[in-house]
Formats: sequence, C-alpha cells, structure tokens
Amino acid sequence: MVIGWLRGVKGHLGPMSLGSCWTSAMIKLKRTNFLLGSERLCDGQLMRLCSGTSKSTKERDSLMLKHLVAKIKATGPISVAEYMREVLTNPVAGYYYHRDVVGPQGDFITSPEISQIFGELLGIWCISEWIAAGKPKAFHLVELGPGRGTLASDVLRVFSQLNSLLRAREISVHLVEVSSNLSETQAQLLTEGEHCLLHDPSAAVYKTGITKTGLPISWYKDLQDVPKGFAFYLAHEFFDVLPIHKFQKTKQGWREILIDIEPQSPEKLRFVLAPSATFASKALIKRDDERSHVEICPEAGVIIHSLASRIAEDGGAALIADYGHNGTKTDTFRGFRGHQLHEVLMAPGTADLTADVDFSYLRHMTRGKVTTLGPVTQQAFLKNMGIDVRLQVLLKNTSDPATHKSLIEAYDIIMNPEEMGKRFKFFALMPHGRLIYQDTKFVKRGSTASPVAGFSELQL
Ligand code: SAH
Repeated sequence: MVIGWLRGVKGHLGPMSLGSCWTSAMIKLKRTNFLLGSERLCDGQLMRLCSGTSKSTKERDSLMLKHLVAKIKATGPISVAEYMREVLTNPVAGYYYHRDVVGPQGDFITSPEISQIFGELLGIWCISEWIAAGKPKAFHLVELGPGRGTLASDVLRVFSQLNSLLRAREISVHLVEVSSNLSETQAQLLTEGEHCLLHDPSAAVYKTGITKTGLPISWYKDLQDVPKGFAFYLAHEFFDVLPIHKFQKTKQGWREILIDIEPQSPEKLRFVLAPSATFASKALIKRDDERSHVEICPEAGVIIHSLASRIAEDGGAALIADYGHNGTKTDTFRGFRGHQLHEVLMAPGTADLTADVDFSYLRHMTRGKVTTLGPVTQQAFLKNMGIDVRLQVLLKNTSDPATHKSLIEAYDIIMNPEEMGKRFKFFALMPHGRLIYQDTKFVKRGSTASPVAGFSELQL
C-alpha cells in the first residue's frame, strides 16, 4: 500500500507502473485533519478548439500535440524549455490549467497532501524565523505554486492557533499561481469559497479575498507583482516544474537538445541535437562541467535571484522544498500521469513534466545577496522541526485505530529515507545577518541569535 503512494511521488525515478494499484485502500490513507507555425495554431484558434463543448477529452488531449507540431513546422525544432513551458503553462491548453494534478484523482501526490504535519511544521518554521527576526509588526506569507492550497491552509491554521502570539500583527497571504483552475481550488479551500472579493483574470492581482482565518489573501501569476515587505516565501514542488534546457557534450562541444517532429510519423515528437551552438548553450553552460549531460533552468535562476533581492532588501526568509541534487545529476527530465512514469514526448499536455532541482545552481544565483542553508534531507529537516512530538500529540488525540494507522503510514511515507525522507530536500535563503550576529536592520539589537530551525533543532 505504501508503495502505491510512493509511485505517485514525483521525486522517484526508475521504472514504475502503478496501473490499477491506486485503490480505495490507498485513498483511505488520505490526510486526517485535526485542529491544531505554417499551420501553427494561434492561441485564439487553440482557445476556440478548446472551448468547443462537444470536444471529447481525447480530442482536447490531442490539441497540444497539434499546436506543438504546427509550431515546430513554422519555426523549427524547439528547446526542451519551450516545450515544457507550452505543455505545462500554455494559458489555453496547458497541463496545469485543465487537469486535477495533485491527489488521488490526479497524477502525483505531495507531502502536504499526505500529512497535515508537514504544513504545520512549515508554519512553525515561519513563526520561529519571525521570532528570530525580532517579531516585526507586519509580514507576508507568500507561496509559489500552491497546488490545491493544502500547505497554505495548514500553515494558516498554525498561525491562527498562535493567535495570542500573532495578535495585532498585520499578516497578509500572497499566492503565485499561473493556473486559474488551481487558483479556484485554492480559493475554495482557503476562503471557503465565500469571501472572494475580486476576480479579474487579466489583472496582475487577479483574485483577492479573506481567508477563513480572517487574513487578506491575493493571487498573482508572477512573483514580481507581489508587494514587497518582510515576507516568508514557501515553494514546495514548484521549482521542479519550471522549464529546463538540456545539453549534451559532443566532440564538437556542448550542444543543446531540441524537440523536433519524427520524420516517419508527423504526429510524433523526438529529441534531436542542435547542429551548432545555440544562444542557451553559449549563455548557460559552464565550460568546465565534467558531466556529459546537463539540465539548466534559467527561470529558476531568475526567480531565486528575485527572492534573494527581496529578502536582502526587506527581510524575511525563503524555504524551498523539492527533490534535487547539488549539480551532480544528469538526465532527470520525466513525466507523470495517473501516478506512473509517462514518456515525456507522448500525449503532451496530459501529464506533468518535471526535472530535479539543481540546488547548486540556485545557490549560485543568489549571488551573495543572502545566506543559503541546505539542502538537507526532508527527514533531517522534519525531525529537527519536532515531527515526532507532533505525531505523538495527534496519536494521543484520537482513539480510532484506523486514524492511528493512517497517521503512522503518512509519517512513514514522508520520513522514511527509502521513500520521501531522503530524496526530498530543504533549502533556505535568509538575510546575511541572520546567521552571523543579530545586529542587522531586520533584527532587534541585543536579541540572541537562535539556530535556524529545521537546519538545527527547533528551539522556541
Ligand atoms: N506546492 C503544491 C503543488 C505542486 S504542483 C504541493 O506541493 O502540493 C506545481 C504548482 O505550481 C501548481 O500549483 C502549478 O499550477 C504551479 N505552477 C507551475 N508553473 C508555475 C509558474 N511558472 N508560476 C506560478 N505557478 C506555477
């Protein structure tokens, strides 16, 4: 049963075929909440095709392929990054706009969806950093790629339970989400669907509301539109879906891997090597890289640079949790559909596409603006955050044997090194002064530097 859940975990490489293993027994393991080109289709054409009410799912699923084939016919082979961007976030037919992506009915499962403890501990992490920063009067909670909104919901529940500590603080919630579809799911959960005040799909702030815990909440497509200020930034399984470029070392030097149409069957796509250096291979590759195959995600670089600048200027911290490596892995690009691995070039738009996060690249892109911590394993991070104590409290609060079993199984999935415990990592950005001494503009003079929770044991 545990294996079944795991197979839906994107951090897992290697052969998988879950097929019908996604049974109701697994669904029972669900979280238990406790308190506490020439023929290129332009977007308009794609939109009309998509909006036809009589279109079958099969027809809709073939639209992205048609769009890509037309694009390649018009402009030539496309980069893997362009392919990922189109397939995942094309506003008309992109994967994140149309499918139930996360959860039993979706294509993969994530830690916050498995256990409420995960989000609760991230909430405690924010509070612990807020205390270390001298309890500033106002702060933003910003989440990048919130999925179904479960993580934010668990974090906000912790904030609300710590009301006596946070009373009179101005807290606002900001979600960066490209998918209007998912933003609806998030709004339903976080505002209980009743308190959405604004909905304007074309505006930079495209939705606003009041959370069920009484905080102002806003949605954006782009981090740059989120107001500046002291903030905690959370990104869980967000960086892995950002578009990567792929490069192969050849005798002629580094060559970018592109995507072209299969000559024998024009409805199929294939990987090809660019015949000469591309702009991306010239700009992104480190000449001395010893690997023969490299994946680089410049969009992740831009976002992390922006997070670092915000934290350096206004204070706060960022916590990034994802599967990844320190600049050592090679070919990690893969697809997920229905909780099993999916060939990346097959039926584009019907499966999630992902690549391991290169934490060494993220660190490099902070360019000395902030201090970075990690990556440390999820197991180590959650242990340091006191997951065992929290589990015991939840177990004590229920006498139902089935709930006991679910809590323990969920704990095992997110903590066991053979499962998610080792593959998933935590990485943080914080102002330089946070780790050296507490005499910066963001930290009250005289307060004692406490170790950063998660990377050391939590001390509240
Ligand atoms: N954090 C959630 C969901 C991860 S799935 C969880 O752990 O359960 C990735 C999320 O990022 C989805 O919400 C997707 O719509 C969003 N997303 C993907 N690309 C994005 C982009 N470029 N900008 C903002 N959000 C994006």
